Amino acid sequence: MALPVEEWRLCAARRWAALEPALRERLAAASLHDTLRLGCGLLRPEAEAAALRRLCRRARAGKEPAAARFYREEGNRLFGRRHYGAAARLYSQAASHELPGSPEVSVCFANRSAALFHLGRFEVCLEDIARAESHGYPDRLLPKVLLRKAECLLCLGRLQDAADALSVVENKIAMDGIMTSPTHQALLKKLSQLKIKIHEKESWPEPAREACGDAERKSEIWEENDSISGASSSLSLNFDIERGRHLVASQDILPGQSLLKEEAFVSVLCPGESFLLQDSSETAWDTRVTNADLYCHRCLRQLLASVPCRGCSYAKYCSQNCADVAWEQYHRTECSLGALLLTLGVFCHVALRTVLLAGFAEVSRLVEWSHSGDLHNPEARCKHLSEAPGTRAGTRGIPGCNDNGQYQSSYQAVFNLLPHAEKHSPEHKFLCMLSVVAICKQLQEAGLEAAVLNQESSEKWSRPKICEKTSDELSPELKIMAEAMLRHVLQLQCNAQAITVMQESGSRDGAVVNKKPVRLATAFFPVLSLLNHACCPNISVSFSGTAATVRASQPIPSGQEIFHCYGPHRCRMRVAERQQLLSQYFFECRCQACLDELESDVKSVVSVRNSFCCPSCQAPIQGEDMLCCSNEACAISVSRESLSHRLQDLQQQIKKALELLRDRKADQAIKMLLKCRMDAGNFLSPEHLLMGEMEDHLAQVYATLGKWQEAARHLERSIEIVEMHHGPSSVEIGHELFKLAQILFNGFAVSEALSTIQRAEEILSVHCGPQSTQIQELQEMKTCLLELPRSVLQRT
Ligand SMILES: [Zn+2]
Ligand SMILES: [Zn+2]
Ligand SMILES: [Zn+2]
Ligand SMILES: [Zn+2]
Repeated sequence: MALPVEEWRLCAARRWAALEPALRERLAAASLHDTLRLGCGLLRPEAEAAALRRLCRRARAGKEPAAARFYREEGNRLFGRRHYGAAARLYSQAASHELPGSPEVSVCFANRSAALFHLGRFEVCLEDIARAESHGYPDRLLPKVLLRKAECLLCLGRLQDAADALSVVENKIAMDGIMTSPTHQALLKKLSQLKIKIHEKESWPEPAREACGDAERKSEIWEENDSISGASSSLSLNFDIERGRHLVASQDILPGQSLLKEEAFVSVLCPGESFLLQDSSETAWDTRVTNADLYCHRCLRQLLASVPCRGCSYAKYCSQNCADVAWEQYHRTECSLGALLLTLGVFCHVALRTVLLAGFAEVSRLVEWSHSGDLHNPEARCKHLSEAPGTRAGTRGIPGCNDNGQYQSSYQAVFNLLPHAEKHSPEHKFLCMLSVVAICKQLQEAGLEAAVLNQESSEKWSRPKICEKTSDELSPELKIMAEAMLRHVLQLQCNAQAITVMQESGSRDGAVVNKKPVRLATAFFPVLSLLNHACCPNISVSFSGTAATVRASQPIPSGQEIFHCYGPHRCRMRVAERQQLLSQYFFECRCQACLDELESDVKSVVSVRNSFCCPSCQAPIQGEDMLCCSNEACAISVSRESLSHRLQDLQQQIKKALELLRDRKADQAIKMLLKCRMDAGNFLSPEHLLMGEMEDHLAQVYATLGKWQEAARHLERSIEIVEMHHGPSSVEIGHELFKLAQILFNGFAVSEALSTIQRAEEILSVHCGPQSTQIQELQEMKTCLLELPRSVLQRT
């Protein structure tokens, strides 16, 4: 998803292979500027550009009436079956394919308002009703929607507004004349019922509004750093040749302490996979839910009633404001490029949005500055730095800092992230160059160049004029933008930061919410990028919308470097796998975990715990390709390959059990999982991660049946294993304890629930902060338990 689709990668690779060897050599050694100068004409209109156009046809990003019809009918079908959440999502998808201001789109909003009403989301329901009205909802259908509005207001306790809304309906019905149809009769009946309800409510006093907890609002103690924006004053920015820019603790830091808070300079929502690679012959529309259906295209907030873009079907927003701001800042340029951006992958999209946000003036200033030399000579810089006296003055020459030695989340800081142009393979650089040129050519052909260069006044919804002539050459200004974009695509390989959220998986029927981390967006965080990698990090990163917060996950003594984990964590992979993965960042990890595993005989936690046992006597088993039982009396040997096959079979069985659970065949799922667990015990070590996963699944099935005690027992076993892999204060344990707390809460195991909540709170507040949703949910559970009548408490 980060890189272009495979067919385009292959197309670029073929072009590269067919180039004159001399040209290949020149390209391989060329600077970014020269790469573009040499490569601009290599995207041939009738060959590569045509192939790309064909690929783009598969990505569906435009508005299609047939899709709108399909989604609306699917929505109606699910609404009829009372699946209101799914119906609301399908109406959103239908709306995204309709034209703004059309009666059709207003019907989508009205239908969605009905689903939201049933979901009890009255505020959002009201927004949708207003939307339906403003987009020209058919007059004859209006009374029904207006009655829903009155009902919503009633449910929200806004009695006067509800009464006002009712009189509007009454007038409307009266004006429309005599009514005999059954629908109108039903409307009148509803109207009189509502009037009675309002009257009843008025005779009750308004409930006093609960005061908002001050504790929740209280922000954490925070003293900002003088030279790094968004960083705590307990950090300092250092620079040396080996480690580049990095952050070091300038005083002792406690676990849970906030170290950085940063808003992404740019972020792009990762589309769902189903957006791409749909066979063009396929006519059925996809009803699978993707990130684009769940999160705002701009601010990444969760969507309930999305506002679709006026021009495309792929950008959906949480509000009209987000839609307008995104349009101003970048989407008026991106809107018609949807299919191309989906085909070329998220990195290209981030690169384009970065230059659009920065603006042409700033982009060209920095591109020109980069041609002036100095930038590519870090050693000269470093020498200059070491001569600078005092630490504060020392930050002045650090790349990305401004003249006052301040490092901020700015385009300058993004520009100064290392592109490692000389370390990427020439073929990869070529692919990135062709992709970036393809974007710029399309911008030029679509008449968007003026918008890109900020020369056009920001007329709001004006459609770009299509350029008559399609010249092969890019304008000098677009070439500058292309050069910056190429730089950003290359930077992203080392500097892309994934924005993740805990997303609910599966259905919510079980009363226990199973959440797992999901990659939501790809972003540039220039300050966060200052952190180097270690496989044993000393921080945790959490996200809220497009903002990242970094907290110490353990005590960090003054003088120690702050380490982020780029992905390969010592608890998840062996050193060899980690080093392999880290090669994309162009460095060899020399963190403590790697040194321990490489240089001494310390075995990785992963290999010790994810091991097999003797299939005959269950004693530990050792060796590489052939494994021998450590029990002398047994002395069985077995090939690793055959054990791996058994493991794969087992994983298949577990998958089947989960499918049974999805089909609501809980009893069969339990039987199957118990059988899997027995099989597993014959050849997997008791600490194997899969053993824990099976216990976790069992807990989930029992929870759907309301058998809380059984669920808790299985989950506790899962927790033991997770603890062995990730440690007792890891975020993984925090999430498991959160689940356990929910189960104990549901089963009224009050004292156990309270102590579990306490533990979960302690761990999660270190990693995610005291204001995270999970902490809030835990506190709600606690309050609820403490308010239970004593009689219930004594029984447990
Ligand atoms: Zn938004
Ligand atoms: Zn759009
Ligand atoms: Zn390492
Ligand atoms: Zn044995």
